[in-house]
Parts: sequence; structure tokens; C-alpha cells
Amino acid sequence: MSAIFERVALIGLGLIGSSIAHAARRKGLAGEIVGYARSAQTRETAATLGFLDRVADNAAQAVEGADCVILCVPVGAIGAVTEQIAASLAPGAILSDVGSVKASVIAQALPHLPDSVQLIPAHPIAGTEKSGPESGFAELFDGRWCILTPLPDNDVDAVSRLRAFWEGLGSMVDIMDAAHHDRVLAVTSHVPHLIAYSIVGTASDLETVAESEVVKYSASGFRDFTRIAASDPTMWRDVFLHNKEATLEVLGRVTEDLFALQRAIRWGDGDALFERFSETRAIRRGIVEAGQDTARPDFGREKPPQA
Ligand code: NAP
Repeated sequence: MSAIFERVALIGLGLIGSSIAHAARRKGLAGEIVGYARSAQTRETAATLGFLDRVADNAAQAVEGADCVILCVPVGAIGAVTEQIAASLAPGAILSDVGSVKASVIAQALPHLPDSVQLIPAHPIAGTEKSGPESGFAELFDGRWCILTPLPDNDVDAVSRLRAFWEGLGSMVDIMDAAHHDRVLAVTSHVPHLIAYSIVGTASDLETVAESEVVKYSASGFRDFTRIAASDPTMWRDVFLHNKEATLEVLGRVTEDLFALQRAIRWGDGDALFERFSETRAIRRGIVEAGQDTARPDFGREKPPQA
């Protein structure tokens, strides 16, 4: 595949930033990939791992001359980082991001940008519970969706180029408006994470269950929540602070549904429970059929080594 951009600048070199670099190199999507992270340690690690062509000393220097800049930092840092780089962005450059919330990214970034820059927010629906530059890998986006939330006045060619870039990284691309994205992701990602954080906290607080038992018998459901609840605290704090309305709206619905299940259990309403569990089983089947997860038992996990 030929290069889509002459120079891509990545600000933030954690899981997502480093994975973009690995995946872009795999297909030769950029003439040059320049990167910057705020800590000297991350910059050194990136240089040692060698997934960039060049590590810059500061954010403004990193974006100079880049035709595509992608902010791979927590959602709460978007405003400050955009302010740092705005004056150094090349006229006509695309400024994108990978944040898990979109309306807030637009609200934070837009006031700092000159008219000559195309702000085209993006969100790859791909990740792991790992963080940092060592955790990235080229296959992260393969077969996963990436949602672009262009602005009404975006240049059509710029959107097409960013779309082609994400397709080159391995993603399937969808386009929607930012507010809709935030509502959809509140249901599919943000509230499920909140529930995982809550249930894992609750289990560890329960005095009647020893902590050793929580760990020992974790295979029966709890373990899958702990994987999600191990996700990066900074990233997820920012997700909830910046997608407040949609999260609270969905959480209200979840709370109502939990009360309905609680009531069905209290009154021995087996039909209600059976009906709800059959519906959810069909949703799981749909996800597997869409190729978004494996049908193998235990999510295809290898058995942990026996003690
Ligand atoms: P990560 O591995 O923790 O990396 C975050 C990067 O941002 C690091 O390079 C870090 O710099 C930098 N950073 C952190 N706080 C900053 C601040 N206040 N100002 C400037 N830079 C800062 O995180 P990630 O998983 O790549 O997530 C990055 C973005 O991708 C987030 O917006 C997240 O919502 C989105 N996202 C994540 C996932 C996922 O599953 N992880 C999936 C889709 C989208 P240092 O290394 O120097 O600390």
C-alpha cells in the first residue's frame, strides 16, 4: 500500500499511539512517523522499541510539517495539548484523536484551532486493559471498528484520507455525529466498565467473603469483570467526567432493569428471568456471528498453569 500521509505525528505514545505506529509501519501508510509523549521515560522507551522514525523533544516540534496529527492522550488532556500545538500545525493539516468520548474532544479542541486545520475526531473501538508504549502491537485494529465523527464543514477529501488511513491500519470505518457516538458508547462500553469497576469493588468490600476466596473462585464470572476493572484509571476517570449526561442516562436505565430482576427473584418469577436471559444469550450469539468475539469456550483462553 502506498503512503496516505507524508508525515504522521502521534502525541501520546501509550497503547493506542504505539499501536497506530506499529500498524502504519506494517502497511507503509506514512512517509515518516514522528512521536512525542510528555514523560522522558516514555520517549526513551519509544526510541528503544523503535516504532517511530523520530522522537520529538516537545509536542509543538512533533507536529511541525505533519499532514496528519493524532492525539493519543486521555480525553481530559485534549484541550491543553491542542493549545500547545495549535500554532505549529501546518495549514491544511488533519488534526485527529482516538479519545473514547467525542463531543467533549470537539468542545475542547476547536477553540484553539485556526480555520486552516481540519479537526476530524476518531475513536478506534479496539483496546486492551494494558497501557504504555510497550503494550502496543500492529494487529490491535484488525477487524475492529473505528468511528469517525467529522464536523459539518470538514473537507470531504480530508475525511476520505483519514478513513483510508484507518482502513489501512486494519479497521472497518463508520461515520456518525459526536453526540450519537457518545450515546452508543455509553451503552456498549462506558456503563459496562462502570459496572465492572463497581462489582469488583463491592466483592472486595464484602466482609463475609474472604479475599482469598474471591481470588480462588474467580473463574465463575467475577474474573471477566476483573479484566475490565483493571483498565487504566486515568483514561476511565476522564471518560466518565467527559461523557457525563449519556452515562447517567444509561445508568438510570440499568438501575431500573436491575430492580426489575431483583423483583423477579424476590417473587420467584422464573419466566421473567428465563425470558431476559434468553434475550441476552441471543445478543451474545449476534456478537460472535459478527466476528467481534470468539465462540470458543471460555473466550478461547488457555488454561492457566496448574499450581
Ligand atoms: P496509555 O497507554 O495510558 O497512554 C496515554 C498516553 O498519553 C501516554 O503517552 C501519556 O504520557 C500521555 N498522557 C497521559 N496524560 C497526559 C496529559 N495530561 N497530558 C499529555 N499527555 C498525557 O493510554 P491509551 O490506552 O493509549 O489511551 C489513549 C487514548 O485512547 C485515550 O483518550 C483513550 O480514551 C483512547 N482509547 C483507549 C482505548 C483502550 O482500550 N486503552 C481504546 C480506544 C481508545 P506518558 O507516557 O508520558 O505518561
